[in-house]
Amino acid sequence: MQEIYEIEFDRLVRQITAYNPKLDVDFLKKAYCFSYDEHIGQLRKSGEPYFQHCLEVAAILASLRLDAATIASGLLHDVVEDNETMLQDIDQKFGAEVAGLVAGVAGIRHLKTPGANGKTDERYVENYSKMLLSVVRDIRVVLIKLADRLHNMRTLKYLPEKKQREIAVETREIYVPLANRLGLSRLKSELEDFVFKFLNNEEYKKLARKINEKRQQREQYIQSLVDTIAAHLSTNAIKAGIEGRPKSLFSIYKKSQNRNLAFEEMYDLFAIRIIVEKLEDCYQALNVVHGNFEHRQDKFYDYIARPKSNGYQSLHTVIFGKENKLVEVQIRTEAMHRIAEDGIAAHWKYKEGKLEDNHLDKYLVDFRQYLRQLAESLQNAKDEPREVLEHFKIDLFKDEIFVYTPRGEVVSLPGGSTPLDFAFAVHTDVGIHCLGAKVNGNMAPLQYKLKSGETVEIITSANQKPAIDWVNFVCTPRAYTKIKRWFKNSMREQSQKLGEMIIHDAFRKILDKASPFENGVRVQGLDNVLVHLAKCCHPVSGDRILGFITKGNGVIVHRSSCKNILKLMENSEGNLEGYWDLERDKNFLVRLQMLGHDRINFLHEVSAIVAQTHTNIVSVNMHAQDSCIQGHLVIEIKNLLHLTQVINKISKVNGIINVDRLDGAGEPVVAH
Ligand code: MN
Repeated sequence: MQEIYEIEFDRLVRQITAYNPKLDVDFLKKAYCFSYDEHIGQLRKSGEPYFQHCLEVAAILASLRLDAATIASGLLHDVVEDNETMLQDIDQKFGAEVAGLVAGVAGIRHLKTPGANGKTDERYVENYSKMLLSVVRDIRVVLIKLADRLHNMRTLKYLPEKKQREIAVETREIYVPLANRLGLSRLKSELEDFVFKFLNNEEYKKLARKINEKRQQREQYIQSLVDTIAAHLSTNAIKAGIEGRPKSLFSIYKKSQNRNLAFEEMYDLFAIRIIVEKLEDCYQALNVVHGNFEHRQDKFYDYIARPKSNGYQSLHTVIFGKENKLVEVQIRTEAMHRIAEDGIAAHWKYKEGKLEDNHLDKYLVDFRQYLRQLAESLQNAKDEPREVLEHFKIDLFKDEIFVYTPRGEVVSLPGGSTPLDFAFAVHTDVGIHCLGAKVNGNMAPLQYKLKSGETVEIITSANQKPAIDWVNFVCTPRAYTKIKRWFKNSMREQSQKLGEMIIHDAFRKILDKASPFENGVRVQGLDNVLVHLAKCCHPVSGDRILGFITKGNGVIVHRSSCKNILKLMENSEGNLEGYWDLERDKNFLVRLQMLGHDRINFLHEVSAIVAQTHTNIVSVNMHAQDSCIQGHLVIEIKNLLHLTQVINKISKVNGIINVDRLDGAGEPVVAH
């Protein structure tokens, strides 16, 4: 082995033992030499020995403080090249754990963005879900892949321009979102800056030049601010490390694009970071900062009380420094800082130099579940994988928001989520039957873009069904695939119904010749169901009516003024418009109630008047009390016009006080 690589090995060992003193150096050396031998004679496009790449990947993994198996797999990640015998070799020499990791990395080697190599979407999606599933099995596979990609981006300038673009696009589409979701923000920022550099070189250079122009001035400004804050903290006996770190070029660029700001207007190019020892110190340090500087009330975030779902915790505030320049200040403990920088990698725990296999943070569980769900939706959506991916990408990329259920539980959603996304996040049924939403107690449209801190209440109705345009404004893959699936299923149901209707129609035509509509009423196109007239309100032709679907008893038609309507609407399976079929000749029973002055011949006159209208009287009941007479009359009526005529005639009878149509035409009520 070249001497330089002996020295490099010692450097790597020092880097690892700094956080993992029980490192098995012999094991690592064996992997190191194996990789060195396998790659001997191979060169990178940069002219360097290929082994240099493997070494750098291992160093990146060590900077994430990962375990020896992961680092060894990093060294070996490129020796396999789909070579089965080589994998068996690795299994024998380094054990199943390393072999599994190396195989995992090899399995996702040929991941490409759609279109990048003329590959079809389907193939891409297959690879993508393959990768996701391998991640579910062992998340370290994706960490190795990310380290591999980071070093490839660091050396991308040696590749031809076309290749540069392809790889940069792929990095932007796949690896940046994954690093983001895993909370590897240090690694993500570096990838992002490279993507920016290779895909938008002009802007990149312009911005880099501008930042350099006033760098000294800005660094002095920040340093004096750092010194002032340090002095205040030490006066208050708070132990803290403070640094003023420049933000990444890409994050500055993105900010200037988002806010449409000229570079000159942006002052928060630096973030000041205060790292304290204990959790309580975070809030004390915040008090000191707020006590000595004005701050933007609207820019304070407490990610300690409410961590992001990738585990990020920190206090964020934006203060006014000298000359009223805005500077962002982040306050966190050392442990939070690790998670902020390296996300999931910071969750690795060591025991005697080994990964604690049983240790699974809730975060890891969540993430695995998330990836599994995604892989499943991808596999179930072979016909439109691109759309699902688009949604997935948005989901990975967007900032998170936190909203509350009415019971105060926090639901985290990607930024841009709507009440529908919330509903589907709570439960599929809540989403499917979502009728409307209240945000902070007020009705809000389903397209409403939720904001952090809002309380969302979903109003559901058993009769509500998804609308096809819902897919246009939901933003979580979960809501999207659930709605799509519902439509797929209901389409099947609808064609089934259509089939049934055709058969019913055929029968109807035969039956129609024999039996006309018995009740003279139709309900909204439902020609083939039993229709009954309600016994409580006895509608007549011409009345405004509503049909209610019942279980096993067809449709019952009520007057829309029926006193039972509200109760019916609540309890029935659904209500439908009904209309009268005027061609049918059918009488309806109606009960009238009359009140008049008691006098001789009253009953006779009423009967005579009703007879004049060619109306059949079914029953009459009269009851005299004091000087008044109260009567009930059940008559046969053709339609509403006919009924109105009868009532008008009766009301003109001498001595009548009033005539009313009553609900119910059955047994006349006997007055007591
Ligand atoms: Mn590689």
